[in-house]
Amino acid sequence: MMTFFKQTRGDNKQPAEYLKHNPLCEPCRIENGIQESAIEVHHITPAKAKMKIEHILNYLSVCRVCHFRFHSMRPVSAMIHRGMEIKYKLLQNAN
Ligand SMILES: [Zn+2]
Ligand SMILES: [Zn+2]
Repeated sequence: MMTFFKQTRGDNKQPAEYLKHNPLCEPCRIENGIQESAIEVHHITPAKAKMKIEHILNYLSVCRVCHFRFHSMRPVSAMIHRGMEIKYKLLQNAN
């Protein structure tokens, strides 16, 4: 059986790798057509620091403004939904 989600502990290089391959803020790009440099990786489904879901489908490259916007959303389920929506648009756009 294929493993889609890997739960890892401690330091992980996957978010940094993702950022390297996706250097532009993805919400800015897909929502507004703006090319803004991404500075960090947002985890669409958040978890406790030691049990994050480390998978490209759970990542979004974000600028500081977009990242702040995500984490200001309440309830957290709204933040997750918004992240998934953007990921879905990105995946559709990739074809
Ligand atoms: Zn942005
Ligand atoms: Zn985040």
